[in-house]
Amino acid sequence: MIEADKIWMNGELVDWGDAQVHVLSHGLHYGSTVFEGIRAYATDDGPAVFRLQDHLARLERSAAVYQMPLPYTREQLREAVHDVIASNELTEGCYIRPIAWRGYGVMGLYPLDAPVDVAIAAWPWGAYLGDEALRSGIRAKISSWRRIGASTIPATAKAGGQYLNSILAKIESHKGGYDEALLLNEQGFVADGSGENLFIVRDGVLITPPLQASILEGITRDTVMQLAREEGVEIIEREIARAELYAADEVFVTGTAAEVCPVREVDDFPIEAPGPITKRVQDRFFAAIVGRDPRSADWLDYVTVPAPARP
Ligand code: PMP
Repeated sequence: MIEADKIWMNGELVDWGDAQVHVLSHGLHYGSTVFEGIRAYATDDGPAVFRLQDHLARLERSAAVYQMPLPYTREQLREAVHDVIASNELTEGCYIRPIAWRGYGVMGLYPLDAPVDVAIAAWPWGAYLGDEALRSGIRAKISSWRRIGASTIPATAKAGGQYLNSILAKIESHKGGYDEALLLNEQGFVADGSGENLFIVRDGVLITPPLQASILEGITRDTVMQLAREEGVEIIEREIARAELYAADEVFVTGTAAEVCPVREVDDFPIEAPGPITKRVQDRFFAAIVGRDPRSADWLDYVTVPAPARP
């Protein structure tokens, strides 16, 4: 990874190498962490964070599920994100990782007596699935691992422990020579990718699994739904059967890291990538994130990066 200089940790900017935790931190042992993945992009008016309020709201919701009181307000965390970008002079855009975890002091599964620590790091991170993937699509494979069910771990909370499920699927797909894993839920319907939501196009209609299908409530998913609606594309949230992927006119995945990425094969069945609707949505999305769409004003939070002092 490309390192930056400073990480915000429990209220202060510390050197990258000093942002450390004790090995007996609760979150390290039991996955009791909640986190976000956010991106900032370079725009004509400086770096801007995409849907920062929505990401921080989801962090708060994730923390609430695990009864992890965040010791900072939304506005304090927003300012901290700005400080991290500004102090690291990340003017070309970056990936931002806020994380809250149950800290050091208590072992055992009852977590409520352990402190809650918070850190925010940011660093340059290019296209998660690769630049070529954004142009011509990924090869995806249905995982033999099922997505965690709503009555095992709440899929809508972005908590560290649940990513063991994604990690198993990701390793399997990678070893099989695929770019990404798609997970079915316990009922056997399509849920999401290891780190992305999924859409298919059938006869000009955009279809995506509903929240009840054990998906993460993706912010890119919501962005795409809003943009597609504005484009006059009908959207249906309903369960998707595995074989519908093979017969789909188009398939694409969405995520903060993966952005809007076409899928060109599912289980070796070829799919047009990017298809016309995927391309339209991609064009709107990539304009919106850099301030060149009518919706950009709603979604971008501009960061002031002071010019470096001249000697
Ligand atoms: N599903 C899963 C399992 C994810 O990890 C992510 C990434 N956060 C997403 C979907 C996409 O969510 P978002 O668009 O908010 O990044």
